[in-house]
Amino acid sequence: MRKNIVAGNWKMNKTLEEGISLASEIVNIVTDEVKDDVTIVLNPPFIHLNSVQHIVKDSEKVFLGAQNCSEHESGAYTGEISVGMLQSVGVQYVILGHSERREYFNESNEQLANKVNTVLANGLTPIFCCGESLDIREKGTFVEYVSKQLTESLFHLSSEEFSKIVIAYEPIWAIGTGVTASSEQAQEMHAALRKHLAGKYGDAVADETSILYGGSCKPSNAVELFANPDVDGGLIGGAALNSRDFVGIIKSF
Ligand code: PEP
Repeated sequence: MRKNIVAGNWKMNKTLEEGISLASEIVNIVTDEVKDDVTIVLNPPFIHLNSVQHIVKDSEKVFLGAQNCSEHESGAYTGEISVGMLQSVGVQYVILGHSERREYFNESNEQLANKVNTVLANGLTPIFCCGESLDIREKGTFVEYVSKQLTESLFHLSSEEFSKIVIAYEPIWAIGTGVTASSEQAQEMHAALRKHLAGKYGDAVADETSILYGGSCKPSNAVELFANPDVDGGLIGGAALNSRDFVGIIKSF
């Protein structure tokens, strides 16, 4: 059975004090109110990871993730953060290839393949983001475009390596815009991506891969999105910055 996952991407938001309050509220609420069948991942800014780790470390439901990492193991890369550093503060998941990293930091499919390798080599789980712009959606070539992102960054992996990957489909036109993909659009894309994975790795591996939806997901639309057979949870931006909204989404399963 593949995992249901809800991951909160805090992006460049929250002071340390605010981040500690948010993480504490989430852990307290989910401990009392959320069933065991959802894995919850908090992805605060790097500088808050160590403090948030102290808050989540005894939780059986809430885990720590980072928003990015270097593809290099160590060395003269001023300002970068290695996977070994992340691991040393208890990080278990790393978001890779978020559309903001692709757009503002020019991350290519090839560079992301290297990041995926480094994360896997250190035993952490990549949450690999993919998704098309509005332009591509309107042209109708979105399945081909997103499939190519997966092929170029992931299909060099062995089946065993690939089975550790979590995918997050995030249409760029839905991120932070308030426009959500409809439940049908999300299901159509998730099913197409799972078929693409099956073509490379076979049905068993594809069936076990968690594919999350991201893009203006909120408590009011999460129930419908998560009810789809190929949607296994969400990568949440704006609504992850408020504990009640975030937990509302988690409770939508
Ligand atoms: C995101 O950036 O990963 C995201 C899904 O953002 P939002 O939920 O704010 O659209």
